[in-house]
Amino acid sequence: MAKLKPCPFCGGEPYMAQNYLGQKYVNCPECGAVVWGKDTDDWRISTIGEKKAEKAAADAWNRRDDNGN
Ligand SMILES: [Zn+2]
Repeated sequence: MAKLKPCPFCGGEPYMAQNYLGQKYVNCPECGAVVWGKDTDDWRISTIGEKKAEKAAADAWNRRDDNGN
């Protein structure tokens, strides 16, 4: 799995989660921050595979950290 940077808001340890639609997202249990890979349905695990879905979510999370927002 792609490595996740610490939470940009609180420095907590995020984890990879999955909803009932089969979409991956990154969640920070400390402050509740959530980052999704994309807004569309085409990144469901059933469509693009679990590895790609996780990478999309991880990339979005890590980019947020890079941008400082
Ligand atoms: Zn946090």
